[in-house]
Amino acid sequence: MDYIEFLGTSGTRTPTQGTTCLRVSEHCVIDAGNLINTFGNDVFTIEHIFLSHSHLDHIIDIPFLADLFVTQKSISLKIYALQSTLDDLRQFIFNQRIWPNFEEILLIGHTDKTIEFIPLELEVPYTIDDVILTPFKTNHTEGSCGYIIEKNGSAILFTADTYRCDRIWELLDARKNIHTLITESSFPSGFDSLALDSKHLTPKILADELKKCHRNDFTLHVMHLKVLFQKTIIEELKALSLLWNKGSVLEDGARIKF
Ligand SMILES: [Zn+2]
Ligand SMILES: [Zn+2]
Repeated sequence: MDYIEFLGTSGTRTPTQGTTCLRVSEHCVIDAGNLINTFGNDVFTIEHIFLSHSHLDHIIDIPFLADLFVTQKSISLKIYALQSTLDDLRQFIFNQRIWPNFEEILLIGHTDKTIEFIPLELEVPYTIDDVILTPFKTNHTEGSCGYIIEKNGSAILFTADTYRCDRIWELLDARKNIHTLITESSFPSGFDSLALDSKHLTPKILADELKKCHRNDFTLHVMHLKVLFQKTIIEELKALSLLWNKGSVLEDGARIKF
């Protein structure tokens, strides 16, 4: 694959829209908001899931995937995230109450466990297939991170959910091979205090944050819009001229080339 495919881009789950899920290579995705509906039988090709954080809209398909994989796969599904996110999955999802502890359940007929949790270190590159993923700290939850996604020297920066975050702009300034920024705008600009409380961006806060960056030679794509406010957010993004250089509001099924 010489592109990233956006399987889910919405900030809200609806009958026609999925939540955050990006396929970055044949066997690897970032976040699991919309795997089951989009992959069909191809779902068994997934071997690696990198998570941005533990919020439900980013992890929702993992329990169902484990349930499918336990009788069908011969190697563990590897789930990578910062330690705090892995702790949340163990404590609140795979805890034998909400869902079985698939970390201890063997794949039928094999010696591997169904899922394996792998803690990530910040700013360390991980290579899967021929794609390099480098997690960096964001400002959303305790265990939240974004990723630089790199292939053949060309890079895309994906913030996932975040509020104001200096590291995004430092990385963009330092890494000239980043040609695309994918970030979020969950609420309209009038929802300042909700954005702060829930640690999300609005078009106005995003415009303000962009002033920290010394480059304008990248393309900005926005996702994770809360569906009730979609129209207003898009109007505001356009009014603030944030979608320059062929930038867009991403929809499910969108592809971005490395
Ligand atoms: Zn979140
Ligand atoms: Zn989210």
